[in-house]
Amino acid sequence: MDERKTLLTEGNLLQAHTWKGLLETCGICVELKGEMLLGGVGELPVDVQNVELWVAELELAQAQAVLGSMEVEGPQWQCVQCHEMNEANFDLCWHCSAEKSEPRN
Ligand SMILES: [Zn+2]
Repeated sequence: MDERKTLLTEGNLLQAHTWKGLLETCGICVELKGEMLLGGVGELPVDVQNVELWVAELELAQAQAVLGSMEVEGPQWQCVQCHEMNEANFDLCWHCSAEKSEPRN
């Protein structure tokens, strides 16, 4: 039997899904506990608490590294209106509330 560790406890569903998707793209198998919360597809209650993420013990360090690098290296974006730098998880400029726009190629 695999040894498993909790990567996230008492998280919310939105965070858990974000992390799960991110880790799976890195080839890390993640188990989301609290499946009874997942009713209809497309109607996830994003404010649900106490969701847990489990990973194999062997992959725990790698998973934490992935999540750590995400927080540190999230690409910032520059506001097209006021040219302030914003964190990647902001959808609006913190300074002038302009919408985030993708950089042009
Ligand atoms: Zn701005």
